[in-house]
Amino acid sequence: MQGIIDKINCQRNIMLSTLSTFRVGGAARCVYNPTNKDEIKAVIEYCSENNERYMILGNGSNVLFPDEGFDGIIIHIFNNMNTITTDGERIYAMAGATLAQIARVARNNELTGMEFAAGIPGTLGGAVVMNAGAYGGEMKDVVEYVDVLFTDGTEKRFCAEEMEFSYRHSIIDDNMIVIGAGLKLEKGNGYAIEARINELKEARRAKQPLEYPSAGSTFKRPEGYFAGKLIEEAGLKGYRHGGAMVSDKHSGFIINYSNATSRDILELIEYVIETVNDKFGVLLETEVKIIK
Ligand code: FAD
Repeated sequence: MQGIIDKINCQRNIMLSTLSTFRVGGAARCVYNPTNKDEIKAVIEYCSENNERYMILGNGSNVLFPDEGFDGIIIHIFNNMNTITTDGERIYAMAGATLAQIARVARNNELTGMEFAAGIPGTLGGAVVMNAGAYGGEMKDVVEYVDVLFTDGTEKRFCAEEMEFSYRHSIIDDNMIVIGAGLKLEKGNGYAIEARINELKEARRAKQPLEYPSAGSTFKRPEGYFAGKLIEEAGLKGYRHGGAMVSDKHSGFIINYSNATSRDILELIEYVIETVNDKFGVLLETEVKIIK
């Protein structure tokens, strides 16, 4: 196994701020960039033999890393593992392909169904874990099956029903790694697909603070409410703490307004949760994964 591990692309002492869309986070001792599932297996085996902590990272668009960094190994499933193939109305994408790349391939093949995802800045792996969605679409609408590697080295292909997709949820847990997924789309019209992608991108630009680093919506939608509306009604729109701010464009986004630390963001998240709970008795839950 030592032989394989030595051949896998590995970067040392990488600032996690460069690997997350929040642009915060201290150093990671080692970031592996595997190209296939055997390399992922090799890194995991190495970690368990050497008692190393590890985590899987996609595009880092839904994580908050600590200022102290991550004392362990990051397995970065991203552009070394992003092959996308098509077969009629079906697409197979490896976990590191971005949703934007998949939506582009779908559009080029006149396949409709992925338009909703074109502006979500995640990888297929991260999107399957979260059942990412927007503008009335979610991954569960297009996923036919998911190839999973378990941390004990076994593998399984899960059909969509077995994934138990629900709002920002799937069965993928810390012992499961998404390797790739099969998507089933429908024949469409290339111009109409392009127009819908552009329309949704424009809607994002108009409503979301894309000019600042963030991880998208910080909180899940509480049943019967909208997080952004509750936060705004609690008087927190534009509220700042250190370099972090509740966006004044969209209160559901906490943004890195000006050189925020991870602590600034975390403390602001906690303050928002507390304030909204005090005022409305609604307990917000983070959609963003807080890494400790
Ligand atoms: P990461 O942030 O890298 O990881 C997220 C979690 O998934 C981590 O726990 C990680 O360990 C795990 N993970 C990642 N890859 C794998 C894998 N291959 N196998 C197993 N576990 C894995 N989300 C929406 O749902 N809808 C939106 O409209 C939306 N808009 C956004 C807009 C902006 C500006 C930003 C910054 C974010 C937005 N997001 C949105 C959030 C985010 O893009 C999604 O949650 C996305 O699916 C996360 O993918 P990722 O590759 O960045 O995952």
